[in-house]
Amino acid sequence: MIKQSLPKVAYFCMEYGLASNFKIYAGGLGILAGDHIKGSKDMDLPLVAIGIKWKQGYTDQRIDTGGKPYDSYHNYDYPFLEDTKVKVTVMIREIPVICKVWLVDCFGNAPLYLLDTDIPENDDAWITGQLYGWFGEERIAQEIVLGIGGVKALRVLNIDVDVYHFNEGHAVLAATELIKEKMDKQIDFDEALKLTRDEVVFTTHTPIVQGNESHPLSRLEYMGAFNGLTKKQMLDLGGSPFNMTLAALNLSRKANAVAQLHGETANIMWKDVENKSEILAITNAIHKKTWVDERITNAFEKNEDLWNTHMIIKKELIEFVKERNNVTLDANKLLIGFSRRAAPYKRSDLIFRKEEIIDPLLSSGKIQIIFSGKAHPLDDTGKEIVATLVRMSKKYPNSVVFLENYDMTIGKMLTRGSDIWLNNPIRPMEASGTSGMKAAMNGVLNCSTLDGWWPEACLDDINGWQFGDAFTEKDVPDIDQHDGDALYQTLIYRVIPTYYENKDKWVAMMHKSIETTKDQFAVERMLTEYFEKLYIKA
Ligand SMILES: *Cc1c(COP(=O)(O)O)cnc(C)c1O
Repeated sequence: MIKQSLPKVAYFCMEYGLASNFKIYAGGLGILAGDHIKGSKDMDLPLVAIGIKWKQGYTDQRIDTGGKPYDSYHNYDYPFLEDTKVKVTVMIREIPVICKVWLVDCFGNAPLYLLDTDIPENDDAWITGQLYGWFGEERIAQEIVLGIGGVKALRVLNIDVDVYHFNEGHAVLAATELIKEKMDKQIDFDEALKLTRDEVVFTTHTPIVQGNESHPLSRLEYMGAFNGLTKKQMLDLGGSPFNMTLAALNLSRKANAVAQLHGETANIMWKDVENKSEILAITNAIHKKTWVDERITNAFEKNEDLWNTHMIIKKELIEFVKERNNVTLDANKLLIGFSRRAAPYKRSDLIFRKEEIIDPLLSSGKIQIIFSGKAHPLDDTGKEIVATLVRMSKKYPNSVVFLENYDMTIGKMLTRGSDIWLNNPIRPMEASGTSGMKAAMNGVLNCSTLDGWWPEACLDDINGWQFGDAFTEKDVPDIDQHDGDALYQTLIYRVIPTYYENKDKWVAMMHKSIETTKDQFAVERMLTEYFEKLYIKA
């Protein structure tokens, strides 16, 4: 890439995972966005990021004495935020809402601006209160702030932008503002739409139909989200109910999915939409400096002993677990890490499906498992899943652990200190996943169904394991039966014997795991692709 001629990108995202104590993120989407900024800084790429300063962030989710998750929210202040003194106004329910603009300045050429409604002038100060909290109206208000407020902030800050990148559909209302600006200059709607499409790109993140947010048109209308567009124009863009992903596909010149398999899934999912933007695939990646332990990288590069280095890091994880949960795991026994949002398709409890098989392995301590993960605060099914994992940790107190309140710190510890990284979503429902990339580059062997990014990396029995053989079937009990049995087969006949009886092979696999992922799933590769395939105009 020739740097001087690169387009200037404005990157919009609802959440950013930058550090554990900066609680403006919930999960994978935010982690990806955070790594996008950090990578842009490292590579000196022209990018400005727009987000929201969440007063309470996402839920703090802990476990009560009865073993059930409960949510709590706390107010956070961040002394490192700089006040830009810029304020912009958006109209919500015909009431002006003032958005104060903060700057996170430590990312050099890739500054992050955060909008905040929690100021005394506003009656509606609550809008930027909780990330993914509450219901439809509140979400729309937040999306007006992010999208419409975000574009207005760029104007007042006097920042030149060539490309607007909507990371997820949350930001799509920004396009109404881009259209409105043009119509205010006497350009008619069709032409304004065409010009706007030409400067917008979009990343879709969910292969699950229900995961694609939609709102009734009438609700968007009274909230003020039409932003000067007519009902007919909004209907044509997003349908009824108004689907944020569909609208973004209609409002962008190019779109991308976040792994190669997800690219196929997304194209099937949206195949009936005419005139939508082309959906490419750009596989997610991670910021290595954040996620990969330097000691293992050094050992790999110097061709030193990976096992001893891994054992040091594994013992640090075991110490961390002892401090948090007062459980002492055994460093000489196989340690499985599993941390994910508790969504049914991710099947956190799949490994417990057949008690007669798993009980002897856990009772004897031949395998140990550390779980973590939050359920969405409004998701009762997800909370049931967490409760099941907690129940298992009580049943097997020496070999099953549940770490409450999953965050970047836990994510870091688990993806570097476990022996294997277990992942068993129902294929093809996982868009990409990045925790497995963190594990792989730390020499923690992936053991996963062939979903998300893993089909691109997996060399079975060489750099990790696959199980389930890319099985897909509509009938859920069948899939669980099939994948659950495949998981047991792989654990019992492949993973466990290698771990206990063939350490040389295990270490060779760790080496391969690092070697085959360290460049392909590093954020530098991903950002180069974003510029070459999405941001730079063909
Ligand atoms: C890496 C990470 C994620 C994303 O990982 P998945 O593979 O999508 O589960 C989510 N949350 C935290 C805290 C992480 O560190």
